[in-house]
Amino acid sequence: MKNRHYYDVAVIGGGPAGMMAAGRAAELGARVILVEKNTELGKKLLITGGGRCNLTNAEPDARKFVEKLGKNGKFFFSPLATFGTQQTVEFFERFGVKTKVEDRSRVFPVSNDAADVLKALEEYMRKGKVFVFKEAVAAGFNKREDRLTQLILKGADVEAGAYVLATGGRSRPETGATGEGLKWATALGHHVLNPFPALVPLKISDNWVKLTQGLSMDNVAVTLRVNGKKDAARTGNILFTHFGMSGPAILDISKRVGEVLKNKTDNVILTLDLKPAMSIAQLDERLQKDFKKFQNKAFRNSLDDLLPRKLIPAIIKMTQINPNKPVHEITREDRLKLVKLLKDLRMSPIGLLGFDKAIASSGGVDLAEVDSKTMGSKIIKNLYLAGDVLDIDAPTGGFNLQLCWSTGYVAGEYAARTAGRKEEE
Ligand SMILES: Cc1cc2nc3c(=O)[nH]c(=O)nc-3n(C[C@H](O)[C@H](O)[C@H](O)COP(=O)(O)OP(=O)(O)OC[C@H]3O[C@@H](n4cnc5c(N)ncnc54)[C@H](O)[C@@H]3O)c2cc1C
Repeated sequence: MKNRHYYDVAVIGGGPAGMMAAGRAAELGARVILVEKNTELGKKLLITGGGRCNLTNAEPDARKFVEKLGKNGKFFFSPLATFGTQQTVEFFERFGVKTKVEDRSRVFPVSNDAADVLKALEEYMRKGKVFVFKEAVAAGFNKREDRLTQLILKGADVEAGAYVLATGGRSRPETGATGEGLKWATALGHHVLNPFPALVPLKISDNWVKLTQGLSMDNVAVTLRVNGKKDAARTGNILFTHFGMSGPAILDISKRVGEVLKNKTDNVILTLDLKPAMSIAQLDERLQKDFKKFQNKAFRNSLDDLLPRKLIPAIIKMTQINPNKPVHEITREDRLKLVKLLKDLRMSPIGLLGFDKAIASSGGVDLAEVDSKTMGSKIIKNLYLAGDVLDIDAPTGGFNLQLCWSTGYVAGEYAARTAGRKEEE
């Protein structure tokens, strides 16, 4: 016979959203259980920001923050107003995590260690006496009419007044985000928009890109062109890899690349402006100076001041100028060809890497069916949702974790209130 456990609030998923929800519900006096199938909490949290955890973005203007989230961003106004970026920083500092702001307003722990962020959340839950049930695989819910009555686990059932679904999306399944929560949401009557990888590296067909693998460049302007027209653009760091391109500027544009690649007849290209701070005329002037300096050298040895070493062979090849030609013999026409190449370097994306390499998945539970003030389901009375399980995703820069903190906090708060109300009835 299965063991039965009774709680006010049951949280499913021990990621950032679930831990925040459990901590907040317990802070309000609810008896809380958090169920996590892994042996440890926060497996994905620990790999965020390359292990440094970019825990939020210091953008102070809520409107600008929400704009970053694209067409579904408006949903986030309410959770952000309740638990915003400033509250997030104060929360973590309260639990001993000092923070610093890096470029693009990205906030990191001073220790550069995601484990400190996890420890803070664990401490928050410990304070509220949350029962953390690890290695507990949830298998779905029982319900009566429009209320959940039980969370089904292997070997035990949990009965609670309210339930928080925080099982994540589908990116990096080895961390536990395998999408079961999305299946349960569908079974409970929610619409789930098909998750596909977002913030994901791109496969590129051009061989020169692969030959340049390992090179990382800052401040490159990346433009997506569809049938010759500009479709999207980002500026930032890019990384050449053995399969194509990665780095924040590429990841941020990847969702849109995935969308436009669906139409097989469209001509889709990415162009890189390697010198976005310079106009064509300024770059030409700069090249003339370099060529004067290196006038007796071969062309292949004349670009060291301008470009990273690793990229030079590919660029030289693309100019079709003889690499051994002395620089003083290079014509104006050739030089302008080079300038054009550096401002408009083209490559062909042919696909996205899969969920196993994605930082985020787009898609998830339809936001039209969730109350943004409470994070409550509009279909199931005592169900709350938080984090990546929702159909909202953001660019890199700490926005995704802020989504988890804000929605988790609100979900925990209202789950605790609902559970309390049930007891009073
Ligand atoms: C490589 C990488 C780097 C990233 N870096 C950043 C960054 O620096 N900044 C940023 O803002 N965002 C970053 N993100 C995104 C961020 O990690 C996610 O948005 C966030 O982890 C989502 O939290 P969550 O709680 O919704 O889901 P998750 O973190 O996926 O947690 C869900 C939890 O639910 C558990 N679970 C699932 N199913 C069950 C079940 N059946 N029973 C029990 N438990 C279950 C899982 O094991 C998991 O622990 C990064 C993501 C990746 C992959």
